[in-house]
Amino acid sequence: MSESSNAKKASAGKKAPARRKSAAKKAATARKAAARKAPAKRAPAVTPVSVLIVGAGFAGLGMAIRLKQAGIDDFVILERGNAVGGTWRDNQYPGAACDIPSNLYSYSFAPNPNWSRSFSGSQEILDYIHHLVAEFDLEKHIRFEKNVADLSFDEKTGVWTATTDKKERFAGRAAIMAQGPLSNCSFPNITGIDDFAGKKIHSARWDHDYDFTGKNVAVIGTGASGIQIIPELVNVAKHVKVFQRTPGWVLPRPDFSTPEWNKLLFKKLPASQQAMRNLLYWTHESMALAVIWNSPLTRIAERVAKLHLRRQVKDRWLRRQLTPDFTIGCKRVLVSNDYYPALQKDNAKLITWPIARISEKGVRTVEGIEHQVDCIVFATGFDVSNSGTPFPVKGRGGRVLGEQWKGGAQAYKSINVAGFPNLFMTFGPNSGPGHNSALVYMESQLEYALKGIRKIIGENLKVLDVKEEVQQRYNKSIQKRLAKTNWNSGCKSWYLTEDGFNATMYPGFATQYAAQMADFREDDYETA
Ligand code: NAP
Repeated sequence: MSESSNAKKASAGKKAPARRKSAAKKAATARKAAARKAPAKRAPAVTPVSVLIVGAGFAGLGMAIRLKQAGIDDFVILERGNAVGGTWRDNQYPGAACDIPSNLYSYSFAPNPNWSRSFSGSQEILDYIHHLVAEFDLEKHIRFEKNVADLSFDEKTGVWTATTDKKERFAGRAAIMAQGPLSNCSFPNITGIDDFAGKKIHSARWDHDYDFTGKNVAVIGTGASGIQIIPELVNVAKHVKVFQRTPGWVLPRPDFSTPEWNKLLFKKLPASQQAMRNLLYWTHESMALAVIWNSPLTRIAERVAKLHLRRQVKDRWLRRQLTPDFTIGCKRVLVSNDYYPALQKDNAKLITWPIARISEKGVRTVEGIEHQVDCIVFATGFDVSNSGTPFPVKGRGGRVLGEQWKGGAQAYKSINVAGFPNLFMTFGPNSGPGHNSALVYMESQLEYALKGIRKIIGENLKVLDVKEEVQQRYNKSIQKRLAKTNWNSGCKSWYLTEDGFNATMYPGFATQYAAQMADFREDDYETA
């Protein structure tokens, strides 16, 4: 070793403490600055599960069951409430029941031989949902009181992150939006609604502690919920005034209790229950010809409904008030045996004058009468977001789904949206049935999503994104077909946006819908 190199080392050794001090000072300052910036910049990473499901109603739980059956066990269900059941947890108003027979309004992969009636009540449907949770051991996957406030995709990692309103974060390689289209109830925009000093109850948020005995009650709304509630209220309240804006088409409801031998048969011979399901399925499929399109069968369905009205309502004037002026199927077809009789009881009255405002004491109609009541029941439906999303959904390149959907929601086959990879929707745009069981449609959606999820996991994909042009071609055809349906024939319903755009219904048979969903075309997708 040379002298000069030794000298260099010595001099370096002398300067080192001073340099280390200034480096340490710099590092500390940098750490402090980083600490100040860190919370805003990046929250700690969350380990993604395979599938993140939003919503523990029929759809979310159905997805969970199919995932389990397919051997995919690492999924999480985020539920904003503190119990499962979605719409059937929320809609527990008196008389709540399904207007589709239970043997069809249930999952084919989880048949229930014990339905007590052909059209079961909401409590029995909720019991079925709880039974699914127990049978398929789903509870451990559910995180209750997790109200998703943001769902964002990170293209680099191929991961969706859900952030709740309490800033908790959950991540998944695929995400399922199963929050339900009818989950936010809607009070109508009637002047003075906040002035009413009595009790206000919405059909989807029933107050079971409120005693209607001896009370004067107003019911606003005569849709699917209203016509189920009214007969029950008429049985207990002192007087019920029903405020009808538009009369709906009402068909008779073939509701019977299930004999014990029948339950036993379904239990011992599951094929017999499947045969019953098939019969119900095809009966409902044939209804599409009357309800979806204007055909000679539409006239027959209208005649059956008018006969039902004539048989149940003898008063001509009341019959006239209850006769719809739109094509059957344009709004949801109602089924009831006890609605018309209830309206004719001594303690009930149908009011068809438009509502002018709600006052402190009741409902004032345009001809100047104030109908004073103790309670107003709002059977006025839901805040259906067919042009938005319930929370911001952020996809590739900063796009926000709600903004893309401002002109009306659209998706590919109702389930995927271009620019939002690995995201699957249940009851997405144009998946609504008007004539058959929603669960039949839902099952096809679950199978389709399962195929996509298997591909993402099996091929370790970061991105499975439907091609924009494929989605556009699909929607062009859907809207063309919708133009020929009864839904777009001029009435006002929650199926349409304010501008008359139909982002809700599927213009075809359930069989057609199921066929398109059974066909997962890899070429329709861009992968990475
Ligand atoms: P809906 O069908 O939207 O009916 C809302 C009712 O409130 C309509 O009669 C409507 O009159 C009336 N209304 C709304 N705003 C009003 C206002 N400002 N003034 C006066 N009347 C007003 O709601 P829903 O009955 O709750 O049913 C919604 C959906 O839930 C159904 O279509 C169905 O899909 C589902 N559902 C299913 C079942 C079942 O058995 N499976 C049972 C209940 C509900 P207009 O008709 O004039 O708009």
